[in-house]
Formats: sequence, C-alpha cells, structure tokens
Amino acid sequence: MTDIKSMTPAELTDALRALGEAAYRGKQVFSWLHRGVTSFDAMSDLPKPLRGKLAERFYITAPNIARKQVSKLDGTIKYLWELRDGNCIETVLMSYHHGNTVCVSTQVGCRMGCKFCASTVAGKVRDLAPSEMLDQVLFTKLDSGREVSNIVLMGIGEPMDNLDNVLRFLELVNSPDGLNIGMRHVSLSTCGVVPGIDRLAELGLQLTLSVSLHAPDSAARSRIMPVNNAYDVDELFAACHRYFEKTGRRISFEYAMIDGVNDSDAQADLLARKIRGMPGHVNLIPLNDVVESEFKPSRRAAAFQKRLEAHGITATVRRSLGGDIDASCGQLRRKAMEGREEA
Ligand code: SAH
Repeated sequence: MTDIKSMTPAELTDALRALGEAAYRGKQVFSWLHRGVTSFDAMSDLPKPLRGKLAERFYITAPNIARKQVSKLDGTIKYLWELRDGNCIETVLMSYHHGNTVCVSTQVGCRMGCKFCASTVAGKVRDLAPSEMLDQVLFTKLDSGREVSNIVLMGIGEPMDNLDNVLRFLELVNSPDGLNIGMRHVSLSTCGVVPGIDRLAELGLQLTLSVSLHAPDSAARSRIMPVNNAYDVDELFAACHRYFEKTGRRISFEYAMIDGVNDSDAQADLLARKIRGMPGHVNLIPLNDVVESEFKPSRRAAAFQKRLEAHGITATVRRSLGGDIDASCGQLRRKAMEGREEA
C-alpha cells in the first residue's frame, strides 16, 4: 500500500494514467485529498470502480486528535495527534493580527539533543512523511475553522534531518490545487545543520530561514547544543553568509535567553560582529522553563536587545503565546508519554 497524500500532482497523474485513467483524474484526486477527505468513497465525482481500485493500492493518512487545548489567554490551540502507528506529535495554531500560523512538527522526537529542549529528551523515533506534515496543517484548519496563512517548521524535530520529506511537504502545501500557501509565508527553522543550509541555498526558495543560534561563541553553544560539535558556530555563520549571498534573503536568528549562559554584553557584541555583512534579524525568546532542564530564563532580554540595536542589528523580544497550555514544543508530547508510562 502506498501513502497517496505524500504524492505530488505529477506523480498522481502518472499513477492514474498507469491505471488506465485520463490525466485530469490525478488533479481531481489531489484536490480531494487536500480538502481533507479520509476515504476514496468520499470522492463523489470519481466512478465507483476507480474508487475501488484506488482503495486497493493506496491509503489516506488522517490523524486522530488525542488531546486539544485552547488557551484562555490568547486563543492559541495546541493539538496532540495520534498517527497511524500510534505515535504522537504536536501542532500549535497561533493567531496574530496578520493571520493564523501553524507550527508543524517534522519528526517524532528529535536526535539533536539541545539541552534546553523538551522535544529531544527521549531521542528520535522516526521521520514524518510529507502527508503527516500536511495533515497537521489540513486538520488544524478543518478542526479549528480558521484559515491558515503561515507555516513555521518549528515544532518537534529537526527539518534538516528529514529534508527530503520536508521539501516534498512544501511542494504539496504550495500547490495551487491544494492549500496554496506561498513560500514567502513559510519559515524553516534549523539548529544549524550546515549541509542542509547549503542545500536549501541551492534551491533558492522564497521561504524564511530561521537559525536557532542561541550563542555566538563555541564554548557557550557547545554547552547547550551538541550540534555545535559537528558544525561549529563559525562554520554555521559562514553557511549563513553563503545563504544570504545566494538567495538575498534575510535570516532570522533565534536566541533563547538563558541565565548566565548566553546573556552577557560581551556575547551581544560578538553576535553583532558575526552577523555584520548580512541583514540578519535576532529574535530574542524568553526561555521556556522545561522541567527536565538545568537552565533558567534570563532577565537580561531588554538589555541584550538594546546592545544589539546599538550595533545596528535589529532585534525583537518574542511575545509568548499559550503560556497556560504548555504550548512550547515537546511539552505536551512529553506529558502524554509520561502518562502512558504511568498507566
Ligand atoms: N529543530 C529545529 C526546529 C524545532 S525547535 C530548530 O532547532 O530550530 C523550535 C525552536 O524552539 C528552536 O529555536 C529551539 O531552539 C527553540 N526551543 C526549544 N526549547 C526551547 C525552550 N525551552 N525555550 C525557548 N525556546 C526553545
């Protein structure tokens, strides 16, 4: 059986041709799938025998809502989905004045091991299929009744560690016969996997690259992010400069403020120096206190921001949403896993 929702429009057209069908059938099936139907029988403008043939060869993914939390503070919705194989992943829907953003997971768990992150505590279980990333957007939209204007690949997982499937997902979500979400409305966040950044630069997509930097010096960065031992912060900055030269796109640097680790004035100065030469934007994030972590939030965000701005680097302090529903990634899945272990 083949996962039909991971197929591109061109592949679907070929597959239907191979079944002796006219080319337009591929497009028909594609648009049904991307409207969220969960059975071939629901594809009412297909002849019955064709629906039967499809059901023999293909399956349609559709996650179940294992848990849904709605923030009373700001309407943020967090979904815990159960996938076909029983694994669980999270998706968050955030509403801003400029539209609704869905934060998509790319893997079940993560193997990058960042010390402050809840998603990586139990390691990586498996990659998500393109269909499983698409479903997060599709079923969030259908369940919430809200339109989705933006996608951020900032949920559980490292997108560069599953890049083939991520790129295919982007092709699907970008398709005019599907959700039709423009690349300019997509952000891809990486902990700093340099070959992935270079591969993305070659493709020249219009998406926004976010780099989870969190420290400008190797000593501090290695302390909190093991990926720094594979791709050192200077290699990472070199890749960012190459990315900007190739694509002309501004990079967004994520920087979670951690008390006594990455919040000194000297680190702000060093960060500014390393960004110089490209139009980078620094997003200062109040560290979410993860129970398992030894690291504590810094109180120096405003001072750090001022210091960066004095060097001519634009920096913002991210507004935190969904504080009452554990909306930061990995936290809900962790709780669900713990619940299971206790049961
Ligand atoms: N693996 C990718 C995308 C998922 S993480 C990446 O690392 O970019 C999404 C963002 O949340 C990253 O910037 C990550 O560093 C950050 N993050 C993880 N745990 C956090 C915490 N406890 N507080 C604040 N930000 C956190």
